[in-house]
Amino acid sequence: MAIQSVNPANGLLLRRFTPLTEDALLQKIGLAEIAFALYAEVPIAHRALCMRKLAHLLEHEADDLAALITAEMGKPIVEARAEIAKCASACRYYAEHAERILMPERVDIGTNEAYVRWDPLGVVLAVMPWNFPFWQVFRFLAPALMAGNAGLLKHASNVPQCALAVEALVRRAGFPRGIFQTLLIEASQVETVVADPRVAAVTVTGSEAAGRAIAAQAGWFIKKSVLELGGSDPFIVMPSADLDLAVEAAAQARCINSGQSCIAAKRFLVADSIYDAFEARFVARMSAMKVGDPTLEDTEIGPLATPSQLEELDAQVQAAALGGARILTGGRRREGDGNYYQPTVLSGVSRGSEIYRQEIFGPVAMLFRVRDVDEAIEVANDTPFGLGASVWTGNHVEQKRFALGLHCGAVFVNAPVASDPRLPFGGIKRSGYGRELSAAGMREFLNAKTVVVAEPPAAGQPGVGHEQNTLSAMPGPIERNAASLA
Ligand code: NAP
Repeated sequence: MAIQSVNPANGLLLRRFTPLTEDALLQKIGLAEIAFALYAEVPIAHRALCMRKLAHLLEHEADDLAALITAEMGKPIVEARAEIAKCASACRYYAEHAERILMPERVDIGTNEAYVRWDPLGVVLAVMPWNFPFWQVFRFLAPALMAGNAGLLKHASNVPQCALAVEALVRRAGFPRGIFQTLLIEASQVETVVADPRVAAVTVTGSEAAGRAIAAQAGWFIKKSVLELGGSDPFIVMPSADLDLAVEAAAQARCINSGQSCIAAKRFLVADSIYDAFEARFVARMSAMKVGDPTLEDTEIGPLATPSQLEELDAQVQAAALGGARILTGGRRREGDGNYYQPTVLSGVSRGSEIYRQEIFGPVAMLFRVRDVDEAIEVANDTPFGLGASVWTGNHVEQKRFALGLHCGAVFVNAPVASDPRLPFGGIKRSGYGRELSAAGMREFLNAKTVVVAEPPAAGQPGVGHEQNTLSAMPGPIERNAASLA
């Protein structure tokens, strides 16, 4: 894909970039390796200072950065500002908590001293998508840099200006040169980076296809990988739910980021007794969503990021209709310029159909009627994905049953699924593996190094290396402990 910014609201080319040559790419990896080695000398308090400065820069320049996001990928401006604010909050979270998370952990193993050190892995490649062009990067960047790793960013080809803006912000915040670099490269050049012995690990946020390809490369070179991939999150509404709240949350959860979010609610499972009321109100709210110019303050749904996203979404809806689904509202692209799609609600989607198993990346919801909690859990889990689930019920027994029974990385009760720097974020099944955010996310790219310090032998006793003190003849304290643990 060409590396270029094209405004999704009008199709105008904003800027085009030439991909890095092989030599330039290798030089940047070399710079990252040097920066990583030197960064070990930078005390954590100083890293935290830079991280707080980064938060400050984000907040201070939020309007300009948000405008850049909106121009490159079409997110409504209000949401773009919120995205920048969230990046700042992640910087502050890790500035404040990194020292605690990285603190060596003492372990009682009996006679010897033992502890676990959390050491950085080295240079980590982040392959990122366009849908949250700042937030996706910051939730990698903030923990990675606080932990002492170096970051290389291969961002999506349609958001190169956001990618360069992030690199510039990190530099201006006072982080050393080379510790975080944007690589303007094409997808086909990613393997060169993964294969490079100077690169320790890779994290991918994106489609299943990208995750599979890059994880296979990482596996071949025996490098750690984290995958944050697609989702088809259920939004479950039970009879005890507050229907007004649930309907509004459902529409927002489906249409956030113009429907282009991995954790957007995509399948709406509603209890039989309230289904008709929910459907009527939900369809009315979706039809009333304000679609249009993403630079306007009251726009709720902007254009989709690229023409191919729009075509793919429309093809999914038309295929569903051909397969017998009913289009309750929308179902078409909007006439005129820009990649706009009408907010759409489908019912009667067959569980055997293709769309039922696919991720829908746009403002298109599928409604399903369910008998009870058991059927809701069964339908919710009937997906290849396992990212999040939002459940609406006032019944505490039901809340616990959903929390236990739903197969996914996060269950939010009476709230839409959301990421939060304090909480682990990630999925299971084909939504990927590993976690971002919180202590769990930081530890993905740390080496849990075990250190055991044996007491030196008392004076007059034979020590390690003494010719008579062979392991078989006289196991030392470490060997005895290891034996007792086996
Ligand atoms: P994508 O096409 O997979 O692209 C994501 C990134 O991977 C881009 O930088 C892309 O580069 C690169 N890429 C794609 N194929 C590659 C390959 N074979 N080898 C190396 N790099 C490759 O995904 P997208 O359309 O941008 O993003 C939407 C997807 O991301 C959705 O499925 C969404 O659910 C998922 N997502 C998941 C999360 C999560 O946390 N779980 C969060 C946000 C989005 P190019 O742009 O150059 O192709």
